[in-house]
Amino acid sequence: MSRQFTVDESLCIGCGLCHERAPENVEMLPGAATARVTQQPRNDEEEQDCEEAADYCPTGGIHETPADAEAGSSQGSDGPHPPKDLDAAAS
Ligand code: SF4
Repeated sequence: MSRQFTVDESLCIGCGLCHERAPENVEMLPGAATARVTQQPRNDEEEQDCEEAADYCPTGGIHETPADAEAGSSQGSDGPHPPKDLDAAAS
């Protein structure tokens, strides 16, 4: 799926709306009074449910990120290393 969802537990007040909107993906943590995304969307319907859960959250506690964001950051790990040609030219 193109998007991933996470619950910011510092913002969550445990109202349960997100679980009602996306029961396949969001669970209420027993004893903690907060929600957690336990399953990222596996199809368009679940992604829509999670998007609605994020929209319905009264505290803005559900964050949505592009699923390829992690891939982009791993590509960035190659960035800081300068090509060897530049080292040779500098000396
Ligand atoms: S809708 Fe928001 S505040 Fe309510 S349980 Fe879900 S994450 Fe927490």
